[in-house]
Amino acid sequence: MRLVFLGPPGVGKGTQATRAAAAHGIPQISTGDILREAVRRGSELGVKAGEYMDRGALVPDEVVVGLVAERTARPDCVPGFILDGFPRTVPQAQALDVMLASRGLPLSAVVTMVAPAEEIVRRLSSRRVCPGCGRVYAGNPDGSGPAACEADGQALAQRSDDHPEVIRERLKVYEVQTAPLIGHYGALGLVREVDGLGAVDEVAARIGQVLAGLPGR
Ligand code: AMP
Repeated sequence: MRLVFLGPPGVGKGTQATRAAAAHGIPQISTGDILREAVRRGSELGVKAGEYMDRGALVPDEVVVGLVAERTARPDCVPGFILDGFPRTVPQAQALDVMLASRGLPLSAVVTMVAPAEEIVRRLSSRRVCPGCGRVYAGNPDGSGPAACEADGQALAQRSDDHPEVIRERLKVYEVQTAPLIGHYGALGLVREVDGLGAVDEVAARIGQVLAGLPGR
């Protein structure tokens, strides 16, 4: 099963992609996570990518396409994978189409998640992450919520791009550069829309139903 999870920042893609990947025994591949790890390590890629990420802009297509080509060729991707946060532009989607076609492994579906803009801004401005392991926690708009990571005890922090002005830029970038992908994949008959509102378990159940209904499942 080869899937793309598509939707605006804060819609819950990462959380749901992690759950669905675990449920199906396939890796979740988040280009955002790979890039943040490179930033943390201070690698050449990290230094270059960090400049774009801090202002809510997209990292150049050729950089992320290269990362995904390499990652999806690893043996753990043989049974399938979930791409989370990639592709984000039409050229990235075209590069992915070509890459998968050359391997004879087309996408099974593109799960598009939707939620109202005000809910997305609320979620993004209140979420916290563990700087150690990257685990994501929902907080409350007043800043209350969990303070330490339940996995490794580290103090939670706000992502550097989860501040109001960067959030606005990321949402704009989504509308202009990423939302057109719904048309791209719609024309290929791959889009399955899922309502992202509600408890994590409710949304996971909706996605589970969609995935269970895919041809060949
Ligand atoms: P995310 O964790 O998916 O919200 O991604 C965080 C940031 O990483 C984005 O705002 C971009 O700067 C960068 N990024 C992640 N995935 C991509 C991608 N497919 N193309 C370009 N930039 C990306």
